[in-house]
Amino acid sequence: MKNVVLLGSTGSIGTSTAKVAEDLPGDIHLVGLAAGGNDALLAEQANKFQPELVSISSPEKAEGLRSKLDGISVASGEKGLIELATLPSADIVLIAIVGTAGLQPALAAIRAGKDIAVASKEILVMAGEIVMAEARKHGVNVLPVDSEHSAIFQCLDGRPPDSVRRLILTASGGPFRQTPLEDFAGITVKQALKHPSWVMGRKITIDSATMFNKGLEMIEARWLFNIPMPQVDVIVHPQSVVHSMVEFVDGSILSQLSTPDMCLPIQYALTWPSRAASERVQTDFAALGRLDFEAPAVAKFPALDQARRAGEVGGTLPAVLNAANEIAVDAFCDGQTSFVGIASLVTEVMDQHQVVEHPSLDEIIEADQWARETARDVVGLGQAIA
Ligand code: NDP
Repeated sequence: MKNVVLLGSTGSIGTSTAKVAEDLPGDIHLVGLAAGGNDALLAEQANKFQPELVSISSPEKAEGLRSKLDGISVASGEKGLIELATLPSADIVLIAIVGTAGLQPALAAIRAGKDIAVASKEILVMAGEIVMAEARKHGVNVLPVDSEHSAIFQCLDGRPPDSVRRLILTASGGPFRQTPLEDFAGITVKQALKHPSWVMGRKITIDSATMFNKGLEMIEARWLFNIPMPQVDVIVHPQSVVHSMVEFVDGSILSQLSTPDMCLPIQYALTWPSRAASERVQTDFAALGRLDFEAPAVAKFPALDQARRAGEVGGTLPAVLNAANEIAVDAFCDGQTSFVGIASLVTEVMDQHQVVEHPSLDEIIEADQWARETARDVVGLGQAIA
């Protein structure tokens, strides 16, 4: 039985994690839950799972929850997230908060000796070097929740980095895989929010359409598995059945396959090193018929080269890449820039940045803030970014 704290319980990953906890009542006990604004769903989850502590962003909503939840402590804000991340009874903290708000709770959990399961890729993109060093220092595990990284983790199965020739991340290619480059200028928010294989939160769905998500995953993989950036590759695989592959130094390739369903990698992160029996995910190869692969179209998806550049340069550049993209995605969703404007904005902010090598956490947070302000200035000034 693992005692699990779930940060971001009301989101896409959070609700899938709740399903896994319902599937496996003998293996997973949710002892803490945190949400951003959805107090109604948080209350429902708290009544169902009876955790020790819940937290919500606003103190006013926390007050409202206190009157509804009997015998469950209620906290709020950043303090609440840290309280949950360090909850004495927790064995593992699953971080599924969108954006960068999960970084401090992740570090707090590690320093309190908890394993962490990471869905929020921003944590490793921004501060992978620091997070992994802290995890080594405190002897805790950083377990992947992202399906691609879970696949690589399962294929590696503890083998050392020098046994790896290449990590091969698979990408569905998103909704615009077959859209000609000349049509990219007219892509709408509605079109970008339609993902062919996965149902996910808004930010990651747009990131999948630009393939920025895959770029973030390349950097995430580099840190999680301690593999240099040039050895991290991407292949487009529209069926999203092969979740990723590892090519070993002898040329042998292992992959992990299944019908796409986030419950599976979530379950593996929470039950690792065991495998718990579950009927939820079934894969029918005869019905699938075929598995296709193709090279990513880098001209249509500049995010892949941007991420490779950020990952190879390192220092504060990945944090800048991530922050500039968050502002660009908001600007696109709010109609302030075009779909192709997202990548142009990111490049512009990256080009302006003075990289700090081996940054401290404060320097990373400073670079993140700088990138957000610079990106907002570029959008706000109405410069030609498309
Ligand atoms: P969603 O937007 O669906 O959910 C985000 C969650 O974060 C919600 O529960 C939200 O609460 C909560 N939240 C936001 N801000 C705060 C805060 N300050 N304090 C506490 N909770 C907060 O996102 P996803 O579930 O799709 O993604 C979460 C993370 O997982 C992202 O980093 C994403 O890249 C990653 N990921 C997602 C995958 C997926 O399939 N969805 C796959 C792999 C990785 P509320 O709704 O109550 O406001």
